[in-house]
Amino acid sequence: MVVKNLNGHAIPPCGCGSWLSHWRRCGKPSEAFSRRQSCSVVVCNNPIEQGGMVQKEVLEGMRALGMVGDASWYVVPLCRECNGRWGATLTVEDGCGLASARVEETCGVGVMGDPTTQGT
Ligand SMILES: [Zn+2]
Ligand SMILES: [Zn+2]
Repeated sequence: MVVKNLNGHAIPPCGCGSWLSHWRRCGKPSEAFSRRQSCSVVVCNNPIEQGGMVQKEVLEGMRALGMVGDASWYVVPLCRECNGRWGATLTVEDGCGLASARVEETCGVGVMGDPTTQGT
């Protein structure tokens, strides 16, 4: 799956404490990914250190089908190095279990402002 790395450091974490804890609580990784225990970027083997904010890359065909939901922000587990590459396009494991960054749909713990509604 291809995602775009966003500057998630500007966003205060939800009540889970950090975005990595949020992913551990609300993400649904596959068994294989859970065993892997490393950064979700396919070519990276560094340990998981941070929760990174990403957006799914939306293909034109998907947009035509009305898949506006893909403008949503998600959290994936990344190493510090990959998380620091803001604006980069990352290929992540399909089984990495993206956690929605919309807290009202996941952990339900409020944040200041809602980062996921920008642009709408
Ligand atoms: Zn949370
Ligand atoms: Zn990495």
